[in-house]
Amino acid sequence: MAPAQNLVSSKHVAVIGAGASGLIVARELHREGHTVVVFEREKQVGGLWIYSPKSESDPLGLDPTRPIVHSSVYGSLRTNLPRECMGFRDFPFVPCVDDFSRDSRRYPSHREVLAYLQDFAREFKIEEMVRFETEVVRVEPVDGKWRVRSKNSDDLSEYEIFDAVVVCSGHYTEPYVAHIPGIKSWPGKQIHSHNYRVPGPFKNEVVVVIGNFASGADISRDVAKVAKEVHVASRGSEASTYEKLSVPTNNLWIHSEIETACDDGSIVFKNGKAVRADTVVYCTGYKYKFPFLETNGYMSIDDNRVEPLYKHVFPPALAPGLSFVGLPGMGIQFVMFEIQSKWVAAVLSGRVTLPAPEKMMEDLIASYAMLEALGIPKRYTHKLGKIQSNYLEWVAEECGCQPVEPWRTQQVDRGYGRLVSNPENYRDEWDDDNLIKEAYEDFASKKL
Ligand code: FAD
Repeated sequence: MAPAQNLVSSKHVAVIGAGASGLIVARELHREGHTVVVFEREKQVGGLWIYSPKSESDPLGLDPTRPIVHSSVYGSLRTNLPRECMGFRDFPFVPCVDDFSRDSRRYPSHREVLAYLQDFAREFKIEEMVRFETEVVRVEPVDGKWRVRSKNSDDLSEYEIFDAVVVCSGHYTEPYVAHIPGIKSWPGKQIHSHNYRVPGPFKNEVVVVIGNFASGADISRDVAKVAKEVHVASRGSEASTYEKLSVPTNNLWIHSEIETACDDGSIVFKNGKAVRADTVVYCTGYKYKFPFLETNGYMSIDDNRVEPLYKHVFPPALAPGLSFVGLPGMGIQFVMFEIQSKWVAAVLSGRVTLPAPEKMMEDLIASYAMLEALGIPKRYTHKLGKIQSNYLEWVAEECGCQPVEPWRTQQVDRGYGRLVSNPENYRDEWDDDNLIKEAYEDFASKKL
């Protein structure tokens, strides 16, 4: 869509959440001349990266009334992407070499990401826009504006009126628990990775970990340090998969996915092997949830597809007043938030226009049909995978910002390749020094 001329206007915008996406949205909105209020229910910025040793009372997160612990970060977590490709583009995530309390590794710990986000918020004075310990409990459209109600120390606020609301509330808090035939009568303990923190509670146990991507690979290795045996159920693997890994602890097996759970305590894999397990850990992902949002039935979440959402950001009939930043998971995250934020800010000011709602719906229906034709399940609608580059190129062009640098995409691809081929050491052994060099040259060229 061509940039609109002479329509630039300032809006009063509510941003929900002060994690990585809310912070960059606040910065981009402010840069575009909007006034911004960020609502954040925690005491500090950082979102998911604020580690809490506390986990939820319901280990599978099935009880809708349970008190929520937002973060899913575990004690030993290091980033699963190299730091160079993670940071926002004009505030690179480079090591703070003069400060010994900081983690200068290429794949640093979760504490370092939190420190980076705090630095970013300080640099761009974002905290001044944030209302901390304030939870948004209701958002609804009214007469072309948006009504927002929030809660602070048990007091409900009056409704406040905004021109627009940007939802940045994160989507790694509500566990998706994979169904296992027979699990209802299986007598062992079950926990979702959202509530995993440290390996101690699994000492001497036989543990089955479901999922073998980033969290599954990490948690299985973490638990194996103290457990008797760890058995990983890997859905992507062939049915015959059965492999014992001699490193790092010689007590970890990779299996194909689970066939069934039995009431005698055993878990049977599709490869025909069975183990008597004490605990099952689900590293099976998360569900979208926006409990505060009331759109009179216009929006819904069906099989983890948030719909209807044009390009994962704008619900056609409610746009541009309502938008979502950060929905697609995996791949480049922070820079995707940045590019989406620039789009939202430009559309709200009128510098860039959206297609008419019917056109956005047509585009969406075509994209859903394409997913179906490719056999991609609905629940993966927001998993962009290989098409993330095309998606970001499209959004960047739409709002006239720089496309993602090729070295960044290549680092992500190479990093994920190493994660799969070398889950033990992919963070400390790499062969893409040329891409690191390119990244630092790029950072230096932007320091004008
Ligand atoms: P969040 O960080 O979850 O922030 C959302 C914020 O909204 C929170 O502060 C929350 O308190 C607030 N909030 C929610 N509801 C309300 C409400 N009603 N009212 C007020 N405030 C509210 N990405 C990477 O790039 N690299 C990695 O290495 C990486 N590792 C990851 C490891 C794990 C285990 C997980 C789960 C994810 C990982 N990610 C990683 C993805 C990560 O989610 C994103 O990088 C990013 O931090 C998400 O930011 P966000 O702002 O969208 O959400």
